[in-house]
Amino acid sequence: MTSPKYQRILLKLSGEVLMGGQNFGIDPLYVARLAEEVKAAKETGLEMCLVIGGGNIFRGISGAAKGLDRTTGDYMGMLATVMNALAMQNALEQLGVETRVQSAIPMASICEPYIRRRAERHLEKGRIVIFAAGTGNPFFTTDTGAALRAAEMNCDALLKGTSVDGVYDRDPKLFPKANRFDTISYGRVLADDLKVMDATAVALCRENAIPIVVFSIRERGNLARVLTGQGVQTVVNSDE
Ligand code: UDP
Repeated sequence: MTSPKYQRILLKLSGEVLMGGQNFGIDPLYVARLAEEVKAAKETGLEMCLVIGGGNIFRGISGAAKGLDRTTGDYMGMLATVMNALAMQNALEQLGVETRVQSAIPMASICEPYIRRRAERHLEKGRIVIFAAGTGNPFFTTDTGAALRAAEMNCDALLKGTSVDGVYDRDPKLFPKANRFDTISYGRVLADDLKVMDATAVALCRENAIPIVVFSIRERGNLARVLTGQGVQTVVNSDE
């Protein structure tokens, strides 16, 4: 196996991947499988941060569409990400991987508050740090939370594990002839409104020159392959 391209990464998983085959919530069996992937990636010698979304449980914007106050919905969404973080922490620790959860919204009895220097120390000690509650602010997403933490923690790359194996010129689920990019610029993603991450997250990565690696987390063993540059992926990077 070739040596990993990155030394420190942030892996962002959307909440939906925790559902496994379900339509909602958390499938502990599937989370255990994801934890194995994360463990295998960690064992390539990386320092790893993790951000997990909350869309499998609650999204503020869907609540708002049904009359719920948007900010209240967003706080509910952020709480959902904490549940997901705890589920992943549990699964990783069952595999003997040391982790810490740090939440952008302090909840002292459940996990640590987000403290950058402390997170840094955890990473140095070989622990995986799971950042929960997104940015801690309504009107943002966990993609933006992931981009922010990747910048703060000086990560070499933001890996976005989804159910699609990269960035396409059209939605591959609707258009079977859609083309996948191997690499694409931040500018093109933003100009063409390609569905990689929300625009705030992409802009933050561009400003801090953090490549975004989009790949399918559903394919077994893919994360470790992508980390060695072998798996199917799209890399979003500089505009030249
Ligand atoms: N959220 C928020 N601020 C943040 C991060 C998340 O308000 O910084 C809320 C927002 O309502 C969002 C929900 O948490 O819809 C779940 O996050 P997201 O939709 O990013 O999850 P994913 O799509 O990755 O599963």
